[in-house]
Amino acid sequence: MSEIEKHTIIQINKADNVGIVAESNGLREGTMLKNGIVLKQDIPMGHKVALADIMPDDPVIKYGVIIGYAKISITKGEWVETSKIMLPSPPDLDSISLHSAKKHDSDPLEGYTFEGYRNRDGSVGTRNVLGISTSVQCVSGLAEHVARKIKHELLPKYPNVDDAVALNHTYGCGVAINAPAAIVPIRTIKNIAQNPNFGGEVLVIGLGCEKLRPERLVSDSNGESDIFYMQDERFQGFQEMVDGAMELAEAHLKKLNERKRETCPASELVVGMQCGGSDAFSGITANPAAGYAADLIVKAGGSVMFSEVTEVRDAVHLLVPRTNDPEVGKALIDSMKWYDEYLQQGQADRSANPTPGNVGGGLSNVVEKAMGSIAKSGTSTIVDVIGPGERIRKKGLTFAATPASDFICGTLQLAAGMNMHVFITGRGTPYGLSMVPVIKVGSNSKLSNRWYDLIDLDAGPIATGKKSIEEVGWELFHMMLDVASGKTQVASDRLGLHNDLVLFNPGPIT
Ligand code: CA
Repeated sequence: MSEIEKHTIIQINKADNVGIVAESNGLREGTMLKNGIVLKQDIPMGHKVALADIMPDDPVIKYGVIIGYAKISITKGEWVETSKIMLPSPPDLDSISLHSAKKHDSDPLEGYTFEGYRNRDGSVGTRNVLGISTSVQCVSGLAEHVARKIKHELLPKYPNVDDAVALNHTYGCGVAINAPAAIVPIRTIKNIAQNPNFGGEVLVIGLGCEKLRPERLVSDSNGESDIFYMQDERFQGFQEMVDGAMELAEAHLKKLNERKRETCPASELVVGMQCGGSDAFSGITANPAAGYAADLIVKAGGSVMFSEVTEVRDAVHLLVPRTNDPEVGKALIDSMKWYDEYLQQGQADRSANPTPGNVGGGLSNVVEKAMGSIAKSGTSTIVDVIGPGERIRKKGLTFAATPASDFICGTLQLAAGMNMHVFITGRGTPYGLSMVPVIKVGSNSKLSNRWYDLIDLDAGPIATGKKSIEEVGWELFHMMLDVASGKTQVASDRLGLHNDLVLFNPGPIT
């Protein structure tokens, strides 16, 4: 690497008065940048350097937008630390025009396929998993016990089945089951069981006395005969319960074992985009590359979801014009309003995001984080907005309103019906789900190299100019097809690193 390249800082937009240090060890005080600016202090990787003198109350501009206002004067070459920036007010939700710019989406992308499991309802799975749903936390021990026993004793007999998974959660009793907000966790549990990777063969383990009646969790594809109650008086002791659950499970395994992969168009992919443990590179390398791949999926006729309300809130005025209909724009604004009120009730606001790790990675506040976060939505038209725990309804790009919390967002996207998860990280998280493959994209090579066996794709070379956003976007697109086909195993599956399902419960606990 030449000296000039080495000392290049990244200026995302020509209007920006800050640049980002790309050097993995940061840059030292006294370093002269290519543009002649001399650093006034040491600046760590991912952090911002002032490209111009910034007076108190002057805007700090990155991504071409105001990410904050200077609290004190910042001179050219200084580190623009978080403590020097004031958080601006969020966009006023009542003054955003609902005018939808009818964007002409570019030519369709044809000829891309993957090997998936086609279901009776038309959806396509990327894995073949027996899901054991539960109506209440009380039964989670039995569900885990049965899932383990199935893996050891039954799966060898049914080689086409990949896994047996207990869909445990903390809901089901001790809650105000009829409170309006209870619909969120209830539909989430029900819809998770409808995820395409379970092939409509889910059984439900209930206790018997819980508030959430297991009958509320079955749907057209399964019936009340798929419900198993621990308190069923036929059972004398635990062993008989285990045997009963195993018998019910085996009936489903027989059907799942008949599922075979077949060639399906890329339009059957339902991709959930998420980021977690973000740093300043997330928004310039991995998220834009993921956005490029999202555009490819949409052009191929597939479905993409992006989420994380608190990371969209400060960019919502940029997203509403991308909706295809004023109703969709209104739904997007309403989802922000709902969350503003939800946070207010808890005496919090959007400044509760970012995390200390985000700040350590160079992200000063939620505005800066949001501008990087929405890059993973690509440039397609937003065709729908769904509430937390609802199922996706349309092909194309959907905003699925969820909290930004990694486990909750993932759980809700699972309920929405994703069959492929893309997860972007800059600080590093071992995030994984046992129900759906999670492709982890590293935003910087320092992390991707250190976590060589935990990260699936390194978007870091974009920062050094060795690869373009388009190149990494195509790599991710091809990786999605290979992973969906079962040809490539993601790191979290290879290592068995899987997170728990975590429900979003905005309702009262009793
Ligand atoms: Ca997240």
